[in-house]
Amino acid sequence: MARALLEQSIGREPGTWRLWSMGKRVGVIIACPRCGRESTLVHEVRLNGDVEPSAVCPHQGCDWHEFIQLLDWPGMHLHRLT
Ligand SMILES: [Zn+2]
Repeated sequence: MARALLEQSIGREPGTWRLWSMGKRVGVIIACPRCGRESTLVHEVRLNGDVEPSAVCPHQGCDWHEFIQLLDWPGMHLHRLT
């Protein structure tokens, strides 16, 4: 399976990531590299920005599915949401 590098978003461009936070909760929203629509990651993000498991676009009509790494990730470890 291909591996995609996602850059930090400055304007919600396709193939980018951005942080969201609510209170003490922090998460990641990615914009699909293929269709550009956004979704919230429920994955583990390691200190180096590696995301596990692979990411799948949840939007109808899009078949994007890749392993991803978040570039310029600020060195946090996010646990997978269940
Ligand atoms: Zn998509």
